[in-house]
Amino acid sequence: MKNSGSPRSHAPKIIPRAAHNVSRKEFSKSALKVLYRLDKAGYQSFLVGGCVRDAMLELHPKDFDVATNATPDEVRALFGNCRLIGRRFRLAHVRFGREIIEVATFRAAAIHVDDDVEHDREGRILRDNVYGSIDEDVWRRDFTCNALYYNIADFSIWDYTGGVEDVERRQLVLIGDPEQRLREDPVRMLRAIRFAAKLEFSIDPAVVRAIHHHAGLLTNVPAARLFDEFLKLFQSGHAERTFELLREHGLFAEMFPATEQELARDSDFLRFVLAAVRNTDRRVHAGKSVTPMFLLGVFFWAPVRKLAEIRRVQEKMPESQALSVAAYDLVAQQQRRISIPRRFTVPMREMLALQPRFLQMRGKRAMKLLSHRRFRAAYDFMLLRARTGQIAGETADFWTDVQTQSGDERAASFQLNARPAKQRRPRGRRRRKKPQVP
Ligand code: ATP
Ligand code: MG
Repeated sequence: MKNSGSPRSHAPKIIPRAAHNVSRKEFSKSALKVLYRLDKAGYQSFLVGGCVRDAMLELHPKDFDVATNATPDEVRALFGNCRLIGRRFRLAHVRFGREIIEVATFRAAAIHVDDDVEHDREGRILRDNVYGSIDEDVWRRDFTCNALYYNIADFSIWDYTGGVEDVERRQLVLIGDPEQRLREDPVRMLRAIRFAAKLEFSIDPAVVRAIHHHAGLLTNVPAARLFDEFLKLFQSGHAERTFELLREHGLFAEMFPATEQELARDSDFLRFVLAAVRNTDRRVHAGKSVTPMFLLGVFFWAPVRKLAEIRRVQEKMPESQALSVAAYDLVAQQQRRISIPRRFTVPMREMLALQPRFLQMRGKRAMKLLSHRRFRAAYDFMLLRARTGQIAGETADFWTDVQTQSGDERAASFQLNARPAKQRRPRGRRRRKKPQVP
């Protein structure tokens, strides 16, 4: 295997415009404006990262990162529509309507500036904040395919690490020593999976080995960062492949231990989760919205049901309540790994707790489910359960049909009139207070 990462050891290979397929048409007008203005002001100005890689692969990049030797303050001086963000390492955000172009000043690689880099005990980088030049910036990047720089001055591509070749071979290769790079930032393991799934790349065997050694380091990553990464992993239209790869490489178990435990022993649950990730991908590709709470509810369903069953038996709780309490407990466990904001956990618990109510198809209370604020999500969840054999097809059909029925038809479906008249009490009487017993 070649070593792509002997730092600062060589000059870039410069691929002139005539020798590569990356066309400016692939880049947004706003990104080009930023690049040209920096260039005109005498700064180096490159596109870097995912947008260059995706353009080479004809994947139509949507998100553009600019790298330059101008400092953040110099960038701000050039653009009216510019904000500096980040405390530790400042980046410039140049805004064009809803589009934001991120402009970063070249940064020295962590491994070159040992005095300025803090590592934790496992070698994770805690701080790296030294500006540098492009031939330093390149070595801090994760994969060779992410370290290609498109130079606006002459439309050439600068390749220090063999990235062009790796894109052509469709391989994800970490720059430098894989073991060290994963220790520095364990999220790179998840990024490897995400890019492998999205780009249909294979992962360099040395990287695979390093992932297998270091999967456990994911527990050191701040839980909030893992939630952001979870969203990118599962909501970018490649959730199915991502899910398979995460499991294959032992990373899913680190992210969702309780889920993995059930997946490993329950093939029906696995089919259910697979149906859900496929469904998520279909929605993303159709441009429909996806909410993380739905997929999280799916991941938690089997372990929550298991916990709920214990509660139900030991504490004689009604099923709905047991599910809600069990979901609460599981979320609390899970938060230590991935912190899920309350705005997702609360509706998720409601969605799970509503499941038993789909089995009741008679009476007013059953009909009231239709107007529950979480009905839509709970219904979709129930449909998925029906599709994988957890619930009778007729039950699912019933709830599908009643949604489009008129008032009278609906009353008949729920058999509202079937109750004997004498059971109905006049409204007024129910409110009357019981006589006080002295
Ligand atoms: P996409 O936008 O498709 O998710 P990307 O490669 O652009 O892919 P970003 O997260 O936008 O990914 O990051 C931009 C670039 O910054 C990357 O291509 C990579 O060069 C560098 N980078 C991002 N995260 C890391 C990391 N954890 N370690 C090292 N380099 C990173
Ligand atoms: Mg990007």
